[in-house]
Amino acid sequence: MKKNLMNLVTYPSPILSKKCAEVKIGDMQAGEILGNMTDKLYEWNGAGLAAPQVGILQRIVVIDVREDPATLYRMINPRIVWRSEELVESKEGCLSIPRLLEKVPRHELVTVQYFDENFAEKEVYASGFLSCCLQHELDHLDGILYIDRLGRRKRSMAIQKFKKLQEEFEEKRKEEEMTE
Ligand SMILES: [Zn+2]
Repeated sequence: MKKNLMNLVTYPSPILSKKCAEVKIGDMQAGEILGNMTDKLYEWNGAGLAAPQVGILQRIVVIDVREDPATLYRMINPRIVWRSEELVESKEGCLSIPRLLEKVPRHELVTVQYFDENFAEKEVYASGFLSCCLQHELDHLDGILYIDRLGRRKRSMAIQKFKKLQEEFEEKRKEEEMTE
């Protein structure tokens, strides 16, 4: 078995602002990428993971919002084909922007079409947290982070907050190292 060498790409890496390429239908590598991304999704305890977050600029996403029954979505070339006009606001976080949580406006309902790991065409109609998560992950494929969905002022405030959280985290980590 090949070792899973995927590493998490974090803000402000320029990789996270790049637009991802469509996967060629039948590309056998996609299945392996999906498998490794699924392992990392659970290892990092995320609700969703998009390929650019592991440095791969292809339109691939895995999602499991830990609903009951748990459903793992493994998506190739996903796209939103319908969105409700109604917007909702809920707190979001991102593995690539650790520890920051911000309220983001999203469409309440979406329909997403995609190919599964066997390149079968699938469709999911989503509401609630799954809907927000789909919009968040699909944004990653176009190089858009959730903080980019905030207004200009709120976005720069969120980045300041993130920097502060990072500094605090680093300090704490160093202190823990010294007392070990
Ligand atoms: Zn994210």
